[in-house]
Amino acid sequence: MAKLDIINVPDPLLKTVSKAVGQVDDQVRQLMDTMLETMYGAPGIGLAAIQVAVPKRVIVLDIAGDMDNPQPLFMVNPKVVWESEEFNVYNEGCLSVPEHYAEIERPAEVTVQYLDYDGKQQEQTVGGLLSTCVQHEIDHLNGVVFIDYLSKLKRNMIIKKVHKATPDTTVL
Ligand code: ZN
Repeated sequence: MAKLDIINVPDPLLKTVSKAVGQVDDQVRQLMDTMLETMYGAPGIGLAAIQVAVPKRVIVLDIAGDMDNPQPLFMVNPKVVWESEEFNVYNEGCLSVPEHYAEIERPAEVTVQYLDYDGKQQEQTVGGLLSTCVQHEIDHLNGVVFIDYLSKLKRNMIIKKVHKATPDTTVL
């Protein structure tokens, strides 16, 4: 299966607010399959469609990190409908910000509503790493990258380094 190119900061596409998917059809399923393949190949545990330059509200995740027993999650039009008052801090990374990590604080648990691979409405309450990952990927759909939570100084330093390391990155 073809893999897609992952775009890096500071590509302005990453600031796009992605559009809701009207219907989960074969085209959307094909996108999810290719995204999953791309994510596994990277390797990563989450990927939003905008990271492969597709401005649709689609994310794929697999926090198991076990290629012998993959546990992929597909979420179309994911929406957080509840957040816990408790927070968690994780050292986050991102395939669009290669080799940079930062501690980010987010609600420890969230309830997310989404359409699954078959277009069925689902609601799931998630905690731990999955909660962080889901929130990180939904942020992408709203044009937010984890480094946006850092100070401007820190953010610009990381962007500069990423850009230097991957000069062939498309910057519009
Ligand atoms: Zn990311």
